[in-house]
Amino acid sequence: MKLFDSHAHLQDSRIISNLDLIMSRAQAADVASVVCCGSTQDDWILVSEIAIQYKNVIPAFGLHPWYLDERNDGWESALISYLEKNTNAAVGEIGLDRTLETFNEKEQVAIFVKQIDIARQFQRPVSVHCRKAWGALIAVLQKKIHQKFSVVIHSYSGAPDLVDELVKLGCMLSFSSSILSSENKKAGASIARVPAGNLLLETDSPDISPFGKNTLNEPANLSLIVNGAARFRNCSPEDIASVTMRNGEMVFGKTPILNK
Ligand SMILES: [Zn+2]
Repeated sequence: MKLFDSHAHLQDSRIISNLDLIMSRAQAADVASVVCCGSTQDDWILVSEIAIQYKNVIPAFGLHPWYLDERNDGWESALISYLEKNTNAAVGEIGLDRTLETFNEKEQVAIFVKQIDIARQFQRPVSVHCRKAWGALIAVLQKKIHQKFSVVIHSYSGAPDLVDELVKLGCMLSFSSSILSSENKKAGASIARVPAGNLLLETDSPDISPFGKNTLNEPANLSLIVNGAARFRNCSPEDIASVTMRNGEMVFGKTPILNK
């Protein structure tokens, strides 16, 4: 069994010093590829270094909606130069978030659209964070739909009813260990509804730990999410692993096979 972790933040200061151990545990747990998403302009350098050091890490560069204020004027050309230097890189984590205490809605949408346009220009997939901004997200994607590119909605938290519409727009939906929470029946209903060709799984390490809020997550925990997804979709963990591995490689590309 080979597993594909479609969204993690290995550059996070809470885990970066432990990365050798974390990546060897991931390998022992059959995690073959990990997409490492940047969040701010300042962490893109770390993301690119991690992808050089660990050959099964696919880098992604983007401005996360929580940290837009940390960008500087040259962010667009910096993003372009990271994509040029990292030919396998995706764009992410980018997105829209209406749950923040204060935010400039117009600016958030404008920066999101700008990053989508750059991704399209370089024909790279995007990893999207969306919280309570589904109408705005769909409005942006509908405008861009005539240009084929891969959009991954990470840690999907929308209503089960929205799944069909997002799939129709060509989105991939990625699920995290939030599907395992007994309070989150919605996520289970959503994952059951996604066509196999649009399904991805992720840890979002070091966040969304399956062992509770005060623990740190890591890619080795992906198998728990695979097992949860298999229960909701009434199939075997092996089926889930192979479908999400294939989808992950289709969207983000292949990484070299590491010997155990
Ligand atoms: Zn994330």
